[in-house]
Amino acid sequence: MRLKDKTALITGGGRGIGATTALLMLAEGARVGVVDLHEANMAKVVETARSRGYELKTFIGDVSQKESVQNFMDAFVNEFGRIDILVNNAGMAILRPFLEKTVEDWIKTLEVNLIGVFLCAQAAAKYMLAQKSGKIINISSIRGIDHCGREGIMDYSAAKAGVINLTKTMAKELAPHINVNTVAPGHTLTEMTASLPEAVRKNMIEGSYLKRMAQPEDIARAILFLASDDANFFTGQVLLVDGGFSLK
Ligand code: NAD
Repeated sequence: MRLKDKTALITGGGRGIGATTALLMLAEGARVGVVDLHEANMAKVVETARSRGYELKTFIGDVSQKESVQNFMDAFVNEFGRIDILVNNAGMAILRPFLEKTVEDWIKTLEVNLIGVFLCAQAAAKYMLAQKSGKIINISSIRGIDHCGREGIMDYSAAKAGVINLTKTMAKELAPHINVNTVAPGHTLTEMTASLPEAVRKNMIEGSYLKRMAQPEDIARAILFLASDDANFFTGQVLLVDGGFSLK
């Protein structure tokens, strides 16, 4: 029960890493809400939570739209009374070679993956500063680490690098009451990667020293660690959970 009575909001929590994190945090005693673009996206995780005896609250919203963010943040605090943990997990990528990449691809990708992190963190931080406590965990990617940017998703890689930099600055500005850290997952078995060609996924496995892709639980456990009291002296850090991929 490492998060007993804590309240946690997870963006993009309808599936994948976000949904797995929500279920893990519920099992650790937290009261949890997930936000996603559509209610239907969250039906499965809500049902899974219910079948395990937990109530998972849902909020509809778009992390890239300021008004929407304010609405779901206020609704979360109205529901739970406070916000102890924010996991900025919502993300997306558009795969297109460099010469065909459009400005629209770049804007959409930066809006969701980078500006969305800023908007949600800013809205949550106002409540957390009033409480004089809070933990913000931003989800970057192995692709945001120096020299690991990936062909076809250079906009996503740049956004995820931006998340790491933003985390460090936020850690300075929001200290001493709010801890801000990043989890940078390696290649993880979720719907985001399920549609990739077999050859690409084979390369991802070969590129990892542990010779497998991450399960969503591998990433969720790192997020849980940073959200728990075990990480009270961590701020501005990047926890790389990549099976050694970045060692190459
Ligand atoms: P996923 O695509 O399975 O789930 C992402 C969720 O975010 C979806 O439910 C989607 O509806 C939601 N979402 C997308 N845009 C949103 C928006 N504007 N507002 C609200 N919700 C939105 O992805 P995943 O694999 O679980 O990845 C989760 C996070 O981890 C993302 O930030 C991703 O970039 C990052 N990541 C994933 C991998 C991987 O290999 N899967 C690797 C590194 C980093």
